[in-house]
Amino acid sequence: MSSSKSLVEIVDFKDLSIRFILRNSNIAFANALRRIMISEVPVMAVSDFAIINNTSPIFDEILVHRLSLIPLTTDLDGFNLPEKCACGGVGCPRCQVTLTLNVKAGDSPVTVYSRDIVSSDPRVVPVNGDFPIAKLSAGDEILIEMYARLGKGKYNARFQPVSACAYKYFPRIVVNTSSCVKCSSDGTLKCVSECPKKVLDVDSKTGYPYLRDPINCSLCKACVDACEYDAIELKPDDTSFIFYVESTGSIPVHKIIYTAATILAEKCDEFLSKIGGL
Ligand code: SF4
Ligand code: SF4
Ligand SMILES: [Zn+2]
Repeated sequence: MSSSKSLVEIVDFKDLSIRFILRNSNIAFANALRRIMISEVPVMAVSDFAIINNTSPIFDEILVHRLSLIPLTTDLDGFNLPEKCACGGVGCPRCQVTLTLNVKAGDSPVTVYSRDIVSSDPRVVPVNGDFPIAKLSAGDEILIEMYARLGKGKYNARFQPVSACAYKYFPRIVVNTSSCVKCSSDGTLKCVSECPKKVLDVDSKTGYPYLRDPINCSLCKACVDACEYDAIELKPDDTSFIFYVESTGSIPVHKIIYTAATILAEKCDEFLSKIGGL
């Protein structure tokens, strides 16, 4: 982890997830960013269906629900939101992609997977081919045409780009050295041994407890509750937030954050121009 105190500090960055610290900020900004990531960053999802044949044991409604929740890869720059498309939202190559699921079981049962979905556009395909969709008995058939478009999570969960998006205050543990008696249980400081996350440790120089790993502290206060001398306090920093964001795979996780921040900036610009025009 970098020791810099910049506004944003990346703690962990993988293909689908990121953990970062937002510093010198406030709860209003952190929550606005979180809510926009969940509800306003658009992604592609199937929203309309034509069920031509379904003799599987799964009801049409369940099948459609399942298919609509399969995350699709999304090229945000390549498609328009239907309501902003020149076609007026009727459906055209700039705002809509057709996908087909056509599987027929022969003499033996067949499992239908997301990899069986065929897309008319290679930019819009299931993020993973291993999602099971249905099990067909011998002779069963599924033939469905699906229409995917961009949409926002605030209208339907199928359009949410994140499978996790949360933050917590940056934890701070304060030890009052005049009250702390360095009480021990089993040879370890009591508060240290009570920490369920094992992120509290003993300072080798002073012998007092200290928070070794603030990122993984859950702010549970078990250490505070364990102290009989009121010598330890949990004082979260309300200007710093530890974010964890996980993409469904539709859009790279850093692009979700970037797009959310851009949307927030656009909202502020619109507000300023309206106020400025009074
Ligand atoms: S439990 Fe309280 S008194 Fe004991 S070591 Fe921890 S802070 Fe000090
Ligand atoms: S608040 Fe909970 S997780 Fe954090 S140091 Fe205390 S006991 Fe451990
Ligand atoms: Zn269109």
